Amino acid sequence: MIPRTIFNEEHELFRESARRFVEKEIEPYYDQWERDGQVSREVWRAAGEHGLLCCSMPEEYGGPGADFLFSMIFMEELCRANTTGAGFHLHSEIVAPYILKFGTEEQRQRWLPRMVRGELIGAIAMTEPGAGSDLQGIKTFAERSNEGYTVTGQKVFITNGQLADLVIVACKTDREAGTRSMSLIVLERGMDGFDRGRNLEKIGWHAQDTSELFFDHVRVPHANLLGEEGRGFHQLMDQLAQERLIVAVRSIATVEAALEWTIEYVNERHAFGRPIAGFQNTRFKLAEVKSEAVMQRVFVDRCMQQLLAGELDAVDAAIAKLRTTEFMGRALDECLQLFGGYGYMKEYPIARAWADHRYARIAGGSSEIMKEIIGRQLTGQR
Ligand SMILES: Cc1cc2nc3c(=O)[nH]c(=O)nc-3n(C[C@H](O)[C@H](O)[C@H](O)COP(=O)(O)OP(=O)(O)OC[C@H]3O[C@@H](n4cnc5c(N)ncnc54)[C@H](O)[C@@H]3O)c2cc1C
Repeated sequence: MIPRTIFNEEHELFRESARRFVEKEIEPYYDQWERDGQVSREVWRAAGEHGLLCCSMPEEYGGPGADFLFSMIFMEELCRANTTGAGFHLHSEIVAPYILKFGTEEQRQRWLPRMVRGELIGAIAMTEPGAGSDLQGIKTFAERSNEGYTVTGQKVFITNGQLADLVIVACKTDREAGTRSMSLIVLERGMDGFDRGRNLEKIGWHAQDTSELFFDHVRVPHANLLGEEGRGFHQLMDQLAQERLIVAVRSIATVEAALEWTIEYVNERHAFGRPIAGFQNTRFKLAEVKSEAVMQRVFVDRCMQQLLAGELDAVDAAIAKLRTTEFMGRALDECLQLFGGYGYMKEYPIARAWADHRYARIAGGSSEIMKEIIGRQLTGQR
């Protein structure tokens, strides 16, 4: 097999410690969190104490100043254990980087060290009941005055929605100005008029508190505007490649884990006097999944190198997300089939993974939107 070459010794040591953390601090509690519809606050703090949050954050903001790969290693270990409910990756490598990149020095000092420690949990709220793929259709409005902004509107499907202390909210700040009409404003827990709606009942990913958020004339100081007013859409586009690569990393790690569970099962389970692995169909299915996983792994690792070099472009990130999430859907389904009836039972990891990861083809830009991005670049058509 082609070895992975993107990690050094430090990364491997970190992987061991992340794996121990997952075994000790996450796996024993996970079934309870699934029932609760969210993970505990304590596990966020524990992850912070163990240096597992915001790994790429510079030391001046309380981070370890390591690279993006460390966060990806933690995420791979969560996928391996089938315990992805906490939105750590979103907090660490999507929300915190927005603040680092677009925030003022005062905002960075105010929020980032506490995010690194897991004391402040982050979320990002773009999607609304009437606008998801078509982000420019959002209606949440932030009215500017001398005192600050008054934010009114609502969001839906927001990862970490119940637990979040700090939410980057995409708002319109101008009703006319097209792509220059959107701004990013940070809302904080406790602001008057900022309410959580339902922790939504999903078909899977039950330990994740994906929620509705409501804003009823929330008064927000100017000091919470992230970056320049009117630049919100461009800021979002700027970070999307990283967000999509994260989904790709998670998808391929999940397929690799599913293969391991399935290989173990088909060797143990017998039918017609032989292990399920003894049927050619089983070996062919596993070979199909394995061969595609190996190809995709090489591409995704290469994309991570591109990202580290600051050279990952939107089209390669879209290709990575499109192919890995579509493949993950097929692969988890084929693996589940090899478990027979047990594959449909929640106590088997394959069942939970199958339901948990279905959203990956929808969230963060659907497969259709990924095809649009790739197709437009190919044809030059908009
Ligand atoms: C579990 C989960 C977590 C999420 N977390 C977050 C979060 O943290 N923050 C956040 O802001 N959002 C989040 N989302 C929302 C997610 O990003 C949106 O659901 C997604 O962007 C799709 O938007 P939509 O649901 O409005 O679907 P729509 O945009 O209404 O799309 C419906 C269908 O039409 C297709 N379609 C739309 N436009 C086109 C087109 N131009 N060409 C072809 N087909 C098209 C879509 O691909 C889809 O199949 C989350 C969603 C889920 C399920």
